[in-house]
Amino acid sequence: MTLTQMLLAWYDLHGRDLPWRRNPTPYSILVSEIMLQQTRVEAVLPTYERFMQRFPTLQDLAAASQDETLTFWQGLGYYSRARRLHQAAQIIASEHQGRIPDDRRILRSLPGIGDYTCGAILSMAFSQSILAMDGNLLRVGARLFVIEEPINRMKAKGQIQTKFEAMIPAQRPGDFNQALMDLGSEVCLPRQPRCQACPISRHCQAFLQDRTLDLPRKVAPKAPLPVQVHVYLVESKGFVLLRKRTAGGFLQGLWELPWHEAHFGAGRFLPSVAEESHWLLSCLKGQDPLEVRRMDYVFSHRHWFMTIFCHALEEPFYLPREENIQYRWQPWETMEEIALPTVFKRALKARP
Ligand code: SF4
Repeated sequence: MTLTQMLLAWYDLHGRDLPWRRNPTPYSILVSEIMLQQTRVEAVLPTYERFMQRFPTLQDLAAASQDETLTFWQGLGYYSRARRLHQAAQIIASEHQGRIPDDRRILRSLPGIGDYTCGAILSMAFSQSILAMDGNLLRVGARLFVIEEPINRMKAKGQIQTKFEAMIPAQRPGDFNQALMDLGSEVCLPRQPRCQACPISRHCQAFLQDRTLDLPRKVAPKAPLPVQVHVYLVESKGFVLLRKRTAGGFLQGLWELPWHEAHFGAGRFLPSVAEESHWLLSCLKGQDPLEVRRMDYVFSHRHWFMTIFCHALEEPFYLPREENIQYRWQPWETMEEIALPTVFKRALKARP
């Protein structure tokens, strides 16, 4: 038996039973693959079921508002994925007659669809011989073929991709990708690979050379960038002030507590800073905060050191309409209904 045959035979017996594998459609694969980006299967399962009940077809998703899409994404984090999925659904509905494109170039051009997701959709939904390369495949490949280059560098990725691509079976490309993903997440584990239970150990160069714990190699990733941030927790008469920015930038399109990066020069804001918060800062001028709290929060690429200014106003102030910024006084008792990023849920706990 070839390595591919062994792998597929193992997958037929031991592949994971996942809801999006039961009756796979291009849409269910699109949703599940975007949810699975940087997120474990166990965390995706409950959100996926809820999401698909509310948006069973691509048309349902395209017709929904972005706010509602974000609400049904709650619990998964990385909300930009939900925004892009929603945008992709709208483009597919309006420009592709509601059918997910099976052309690699067109599919890859849609929001939120990178090489991995594109490969997963084309191989699983359209049986095209394309690899869906994720972290699991990189780890398995580095061991199977003894790749000495660090796997977070392009060179290793290219070497592994070429070797796996030569093995994709024309009849079952989607199963081949899924078998490798399952092998990576169930057997070829990062710290302690279960080589005794591995269906392809006799082909694995790292196993044969007793080097399974040396590989894969990695170079240390960059530490998240430290950023000083000012956050405003402004409340009045049972309402809390929320903001949504649509013009771009970090966390755009989500409801948030107003915030801005803080750079101090001679004890005051530099003129270029806090552009998005100018109006709010002018409203709060002369009002001492009730409390000032400090907290930190780590995103994948940023480490926020927050100073949280807690204001309690006698009267809520009037909210202007600005082109790319929306403000809202939100009743405290309805805060659960808002898809607020975790960082701001934590900041709310600073409430005096
Ligand atoms: S033999 Fe061990 S190291 Fe090699 S692929 Fe299987 S689990 Fe991974």
